[in-house]
Amino acid sequence: MTLNLVQAWKGARARLEEAGVPGPVIDARLLVEAAAEATRVDIVTDPYRELTPAQEARLEEFVTRRTRREPVSHILGRKGFWKIMLRVTPDVLTPRPDTETVVEYVLRDFPEHAPWTVLDLGVGSGAILLAILAERPAARGLGVDISEEALAVARDNAASLGLANRVALLRADWSAGLEASSFDLVVSNPPYIASEVIGTLDPEVRDHEPRLALEGGADGLDHYRLLAPEILRVLKPGGRFAVEIGYDQKTQVEALFRDAGAVFVETIRDLGDRDRVVVGEKRALERAD
Ligand code: GLN
Repeated sequence: MTLNLVQAWKGARARLEEAGVPGPVIDARLLVEAAAEATRVDIVTDPYRELTPAQEARLEEFVTRRTRREPVSHILGRKGFWKIMLRVTPDVLTPRPDTETVVEYVLRDFPEHAPWTVLDLGVGSGAILLAILAERPAARGLGVDISEEALAVARDNAASLGLANRVALLRADWSAGLEASSFDLVVSNPPYIASEVIGTLDPEVRDHEPRLALEGGADGLDHYRLLAPEILRVLKPGGRFAVEIGYDQKTQVEALFRDAGAVFVETIRDLGDRDRVVVGEKRALERAD
């Protein structure tokens, strides 16, 4: 039987619902749009357009994968974040709306036309770094990751967004080897899930996203212990940082940064009103006069 767009959407939705997939309405629409090379508008304005046999076969494959709880971002190979579209693979964390809180903070406080520098520790797909650089045309950035596969994805994304000339990507263990007092801004979304919690996450995350990008040791805070003093080391005096945290980690992570010498430390909430981003500053140099 040949399916039209609206039948395809309904059928996909029913199968996702039956399989207990959360958010079946939106996911079905995204999968139909991609499989049928249709836009959101087409489904409304041209609902009786028929799918080709190849498009139907592709939709069948997409829906089957989704019923096995593969994330939509992996099936489509892309995910929107802030104002950019990113290529996404199983080697990187899929960008999440919560993380846009980091971008929002930076864009509020860093000038549009000044040539400042930003370091993204654990750059992954490049989401944070590239979203910032896309809106700050005079800024330059360095993205560091331990994963060569992740860096390849970030490199691709930088190129397709036309940002490759302002981004350097480096394989390193966090900030090891970087010079002190080098950056105006450091951002990071480090792995912060406690090891024993990983098994309780949604299957999309637990079974499909890189553990390397999620796991933060016994209490989830291992990486902040290392990063707090390191971020303070590589920041220029007066430079700022913004790091994502788990919703219940504010007190501990703020303390780690204060102990490392940071000033004006505070936590920003995400759109869901959960504590999400710890920000602060490296003390500026005293003026001699
Ligand atoms: N927020 C992510 C999740 O809960 C975790 C991201 C991270 O560890 N940095 O799936």
